[in-house]
Amino acid sequence: MRPDILNPLFAETGTLDGVGPKLARPLGKLGLTRVRDLAYHLPERFVTRRPVDDLDQAGEGEQIVVALTPSEHRAARSGRGPYRVLAHDSAGNVCALTYFGRASYTAKKQLPVGEKRWVAGRLDRYGDMLQIVHPDHVSEAGDATLGHLCEPVYALSEGLTQPRLAGLVGQALERLPDLPEWIEPGQRAARDWPDWRRALAQAHRGEDSAARDRLAYDELLAKSLALMLVRADNRRRRGQPLAGDGRLRERLELPFPLTGAQTRSIAEIEGDLGQEAPMLRLLQGDVGAGKTVVALHAMLIAVEAGRQAALLAPTEILARQHFETLRAMLRPTGAEIALLTGRDKGRARESILMGLMDGTIDVVVGTHAIFQDSVAYRDLALVVIDEQHRFGVAQRLQLAAKGRRTPHTLAMTATPIPRTLTLAQYGEMDVSRLDEMPPGRQPIDTRVVAQERLADVVEAVGRHVAGGQQAYWVCPMVREHESEDIAAAEARHAALQDRFGDGVVLVHGQLAPERKDAAMARFAAGEAKLLVATTVIEVGVDVPAATLMVIEQAERFGLAQLHQLRGRVGRGSEKSTCLLLRGDALSETGRERLALMRETQDGFRLAEEDLRLRGGGELLGTRQSGDTPFRVATLDQIQRLLPLAHDDARLLMERDGGLEGERGSAARVLLYLFERDWGVQLLRGG
Ligand code: ADP
Ligand code: MG
Repeated sequence: MRPDILNPLFAETGTLDGVGPKLARPLGKLGLTRVRDLAYHLPERFVTRRPVDDLDQAGEGEQIVVALTPSEHRAARSGRGPYRVLAHDSAGNVCALTYFGRASYTAKKQLPVGEKRWVAGRLDRYGDMLQIVHPDHVSEAGDATLGHLCEPVYALSEGLTQPRLAGLVGQALERLPDLPEWIEPGQRAARDWPDWRRALAQAHRGEDSAARDRLAYDELLAKSLALMLVRADNRRRRGQPLAGDGRLRERLELPFPLTGAQTRSIAEIEGDLGQEAPMLRLLQGDVGAGKTVVALHAMLIAVEAGRQAALLAPTEILARQHFETLRAMLRPTGAEIALLTGRDKGRARESILMGLMDGTIDVVVGTHAIFQDSVAYRDLALVVIDEQHRFGVAQRLQLAAKGRRTPHTLAMTATPIPRTLTLAQYGEMDVSRLDEMPPGRQPIDTRVVAQERLADVVEAVGRHVAGGQQAYWVCPMVREHESEDIAAAEARHAALQDRFGDGVVLVHGQLAPERKDAAMARFAAGEAKLLVATTVIEVGVDVPAATLMVIEQAERFGLAQLHQLRGRVGRGSEKSTCLLLRGDALSETGRERLALMRETQDGFRLAEEDLRLRGGGELLGTRQSGDTPFRVATLDQIQRLLPLAHDDARLLMERDGGLEGERGSAARVLLYLFERDWGVQLLRGG
């Protein structure tokens, strides 16, 4: 149970003044559903504004506060045009205050003609005219400017404004309780870190590296502790040692020899499976590295030992594909395999459930349906999870409860995590890496093309599709608002459909699962030739005939993401092409990054470079997968502070493994605060 002291933090945002259903939605979009989330919604940066007497003193692009007097309101000429308020400063310079969409209502109220107002915002130029687009503040009294000189800038979603969000954060901060100290006192003193409550308040008020470091350290300590608790729990658990005699693996008739990396990974897995402590291993390898065959070997070891194995896929289509592949490979071994998804109903389902219960089915492939309560196994000894990043540790523990003893777990992922971050990301697991591609794969011809050449690109796609092949079209990532991403994808889909007919399908994050699956299925079956998608997740299905990928505004993606996306084409020996469309928002590093995509097809190298060029947030944030291991700590902080937090956690565990002493109890509070409470539950279970 969560300690009572944390209750005010876990109250819903709806309990704050002024938050009704209308605000709850945009807040929810940012993941801000509880008071705690608001307190931890740290500013992305701060703006510092300069008060100026008149606009002659200000430079273009500068953040300023200036007194202006509105002289004229100009409504939009067309439905979509902006609303402009012309205003002049004390020197007679004219400046347009420009509003888009519904913001014009505010302008009408706040800027009456002839009345002086203090306006805070960024001075820009529109043609010959000075302008401020969507001023951050408009106020009457002169002294109000002082409060606006240094301000936090928060990540927003549609329907929220900076002042609104800042107000809510302020309310959240007022509700912070005093919490017991979980950081080792010497550590805190040496770094001059404020206590938890003050650290949060300071981090919202201005640049404060000690406060930010302390908050990051808290998060890293929580993660380290939780992972250690998982490991300790795992060591205590009894699994079943699996000794395969090789009789089924011998009968496999694979059309290729295993690569060295595959052989090594299989040996590592076999070593783990022979132990009583359940395996917790991650198999990491680029798309196409051959993870399926490794999983196949692992599962056959379980079957040789007279037990069952399950493979869990993130989507129904992926489950089906795995099933087909594995069924074909298993045929000569005589092992029984079944597919179970949420769609199976009635008799077919009953018969599979029977087979799992009486043990006639050796291997089951499916979606999370295979772990529903109604599904019982005779003797489940190994769980393979494809695309690990979609499942958290907590869910994995839930799965583990399915076996008579804790089953061994093999997680597989194509996300290339640089070595530096493996500990942070997968600290509780052992890692096997497939760092060698099967032979005979053609490098993907990667080209960077300016977005202005869109028309040529569309023509190239047309020729490709007319030649009977398939293509992916990945839409621009706008990022601030998911709805904008989707709108962009919908618009692109409509345009491409106009051009190519209904052989163009669309898949995005907000589609109902059935519609998403149906679109993917049409593409996988070859009926649809062109798949327009928003993110990497939606493109998880293998389509051998797809040999072209277009990625719009490629500079907005991380290299690791681009690499993963690109990996969807170029399977087998066919020549494939990836066109990276370069938008206009391109910085120097953006250019350098895209050039790297042409140079190398090595996912780990790209991940390392990404880290160097862009920092860890992008990578670890894996925004697209929805699994964010760290929300507070930046890459720099992870590198500086994770080793410390790790040592601190280890010492604490050595002294007080049950977390019962004074600092131990404080550490429990910390675990709950960062919602690593499964760590605490393990404690109790052990
Ligand atoms: P991953 O799941 O890692 O993305 P797959 O397991 O789907 O990759 O394998 C990709 C392709 O490579 C499959 O067609 C598979 O049959 C093939 N493959 C796997 N291992 C080898 C190998 N050692 N030599 C040649 N081809 C291989
Ligand atoms: Mg795979």
